[in-house]
Amino acid sequence: MQVSADPRLQRVIDKLAAGERLDEADGLAMFETHDVVGLGRLANAEKERRTGPFVAFVLNRQINPTNVCVLSCRFCDFAAKVGDDHAYELSLQQIRERVSEPIREVHVVGGMHTDWPFERYVEVLDVIRDANPTAQIKAYTAVEIDFFAHLEKISVDEVFERLEAAGMQAMPGGGAEVFSERIRGIMYKEKIGHERWLEIHEIAHRRGLRTNATLLYGHVETYEERVRHLLMLRDLQDKTGGFLSFIPLAFQPGYTNIVSRQASAIEDLRTIAASRLMLDNFPHIKAYWVMLGAETASMALQWGADDLDGTIGEELIAHAALASSPAGMTTHKLVKLIREAGRLPVQRDALYNVVGVYPAPGYETHWSQRQGGEGTDPVATRGEMADARALDVEHHGVHTWDLVGDDGREVRKLAATPIDQVPEEERWLPSTAAEPVVRELA
Ligand code: SF4
Repeated sequence: MQVSADPRLQRVIDKLAAGERLDEADGLAMFETHDVVGLGRLANAEKERRTGPFVAFVLNRQINPTNVCVLSCRFCDFAAKVGDDHAYELSLQQIRERVSEPIREVHVVGGMHTDWPFERYVEVLDVIRDANPTAQIKAYTAVEIDFFAHLEKISVDEVFERLEAAGMQAMPGGGAEVFSERIRGIMYKEKIGHERWLEIHEIAHRRGLRTNATLLYGHVETYEERVRHLLMLRDLQDKTGGFLSFIPLAFQPGYTNIVSRQASAIEDLRTIAASRLMLDNFPHIKAYWVMLGAETASMALQWGADDLDGTIGEELIAHAALASSPAGMTTHKLVKLIREAGRLPVQRDALYNVVGVYPAPGYETHWSQRQGGEGTDPVATRGEMADARALDVEHHGVHTWDLVGDDGREVRKLAATPIDQVPEEERWLPSTAAEPVVRELA
């Protein structure tokens, strides 16, 4: 059994070994421990138990229809007022053009426009569904849902009814920030508080809509506030089981002057690991590369995360706050990041059904172990890791969380097959997404 020099982390290790649930004191111990490597090993063991060596991602496109917003959250560099130089509104035609690639998910979030009627937000979904009927739509945060209900003077259920009729199939986890009235008073006092956020997600879950959850960390919150946030999410998940994924969002300081720099990579990894262990009822922990940066996100795949989000296409919100990550990723680059982390990539849809599996690209050892071999060029051979041909396994009907069980046996076998030995009768996915990247930096 794992042993730690930190007695508080040792208590966490002992509790997990005994199958006991972690409490607030354990959460704090994980955020405060000096044994960050020990914490990572513990979270990684939990990740392995749930999804083995697999890491999922989705071919997706982010649509931020407008940055004009009635609110003025202090931490937000994205929002604008009508007439500002950087204010924008995407036309329905522009949205149509942006989602016509071969993607599986469209993620829609943005500002709450001063002049747009609710019908305009519904039309956004109509257009997406019409332009790409096979892409699943994950749309509008709880903050936007609450705004629509007030705008139309209708109930949250009625808002969902209209959006679902237009194609909404899942709901993103944004707008949660930190479940703390103290932080709300400092950073986003006009925005809905945690009670309303949780209420709206509960309504969504009751309707059968799956949702995600987030935590915005690395600004003025305390570790206690982070832990309480996780516990409130865990409580709702106990009640409804409707959350699919938890996404810790590293605060991007941008021009806000709230903190001088982004949380360190160690702080990011600690947060990923503590979340994996506290949220024992969440199927997935996501390393959102847009906020973490590709390198830290790749490391997080050994610290408890089992998902990298997706190709994104063009991210505007974090990049308005000077995020240094690329605005979008190619499939090749995501596959390579996952393989470099010693993991096996699988492609999923918005609801975490496994769509494709990437067979081993014809090498036996990790590239880093082959450096110095006679006659080899280790940098050149890294290219093999970017072979992004995927086998079509959607017909197996396997969820990402089934990959380690009996239902995932066939898919596991295909993932272990060297790419040049895949039986002829297996179907390949029709090429990977066309390069969806608008401004690829690396
Ligand atoms: S964080 Fe969201 S709600 Fe707040 S100002 Fe920015 S876009 Fe508007």
